[in-house]
Amino acid sequence: MTRVRFAPSPTGHLHVGGARTALFNYLYAKHTDGKFVLRIEDTDIERSTKESEEKLIESLLWLGISWDEGPDIGGPFGPYRQSERKLIYKQMAEQLLREGKAYEVYAYPDEIKALHDKLMAQGKPPHYSEEMFKEFDTPSRRREFEQKGLTPAIFFKIPRKDFAFFDLVKGEVIFKEGSLGDFTIMRSNGLPIYNFAVVVDDMLMEISHVIRGDDHLPNTLKQLALYEAFGVIPPKFAHVSMILGPDGKKLSKRHGATSVEEFRDRGFLPEALVNYLVLLGWSHPDGKEIMTINEMIKEFSVERLNSSAAVFDEAKARWMNGIYIREADTERLTELSIPYIVSSGLMTEEEARSNIKWLRKAIESVKKSVDELSEIPQKLAVYFEEPEPYKISSTDENTKTLIKIFFAMRDAFDVLDSWDHNSVVSTIKKILKEYKPDRKLFYSTLRKILTGKDEGPELVEILFLLGRNKVIDRIEKAVI
Ligand code: GLU
Repeated sequence: MTRVRFAPSPTGHLHVGGARTALFNYLYAKHTDGKFVLRIEDTDIERSTKESEEKLIESLLWLGISWDEGPDIGGPFGPYRQSERKLIYKQMAEQLLREGKAYEVYAYPDEIKALHDKLMAQGKPPHYSEEMFKEFDTPSRRREFEQKGLTPAIFFKIPRKDFAFFDLVKGEVIFKEGSLGDFTIMRSNGLPIYNFAVVVDDMLMEISHVIRGDDHLPNTLKQLALYEAFGVIPPKFAHVSMILGPDGKKLSKRHGATSVEEFRDRGFLPEALVNYLVLLGWSHPDGKEIMTINEMIKEFSVERLNSSAAVFDEAKARWMNGIYIREADTERLTELSIPYIVSSGLMTEEEARSNIKWLRKAIESVKKSVDELSEIPQKLAVYFEEPEPYKISSTDENTKTLIKIFFAMRDAFDVLDSWDHNSVVSTIKKILKEYKPDRKLFYSTLRKILTGKDEGPELVEILFLLGRNKVIDRIEKAVI
């Protein structure tokens, strides 16, 4: 059975790169009817926070990515938080010690550093070996460590040979002998280093495929060596290219929004962001761009992961979000827009709720011109702001006709039985038929009178949504 995992370090917000990794793993699990595991890699105690973990989980769930096993729901291979697995790492490290595949180092950090500097000064790569630490492993040093309550760090003895594996995205990858020296697997504080913890966990959690960013490709050497030491066949690896900014550098804060939270706060719909992210490094077999999560699940394959770097195109992401906004259900869109409307000061929450039917229509009328929900208040402003009165002066025949029309409109609107879409439209039609004005001029003048602007929502919507009193009032101001 396919078992994949997303293994974030809870040190900040969920970056879109992380979200994409999670998404690819999720899709692969769903496509193969396998399991998707969420594992929190929080052994970096200085940088990991509970708050980040909560935010990560919140962002993933907002995207619609859920897991079968994880720290919040448990599962048969738990615990799923590395800080709760310390004993497991200790036991696994002890196994390597017993088998002579790892050794304890009784040197202090400054002694290790001195060793490093010495090798560099000799023009050698700073690769450690067991011999180099022998001089520190004396009975008195051991006693000293014990008295001070210190534990020795544990180093892994890397076999001096080439390592190779077949990456599902990159193809054959070879690490030449000598690219690495022995490395730490357990720190003196009793915590594992990332490469060790990740191998122990992937092994014990029976992970079959590791889909992750190619910034982890160099780590794979250490991980392969560890799998071999444990006598375990490594999972299959698929290293996807990093997401780059338009300047070809790794996507970062400098390029604008990078976290899922930021996109959510700007008013991206989760399904739009997911759709945009899936295309960063993967493509639908028919080249389709807009697709539902179910289509992604159906079509997802590791073979279609792209080995060339993906560039984050903000304009395209916004365009795609616009498409989803236009297709979204009005009630949902209204609910999602209310916080933006309230914070812009157009309406209070209470006003929004008590005029919900009107608000839904108003949102419906502006949704085609927004790409992010945060743009909605600005578009709705036309229904709230009092425009500068627009005066028509009768300079030529055309405007004289217009003035007649507006008087007639005012009178007709005034006596309309009900202010609804049909009555308003048929009143205007009747008047236009009678006076036969230059239609373009009529519509643009009416728009100017009602909104003070040259463009905006459909005129009929504006008439309807402004309401009879405001419409009559503005028309009167224009002609009287
Ligand atoms: N915890 C690692 C990270 O956040 C991921 C580990 C992995 O996918 O192997 O980058």
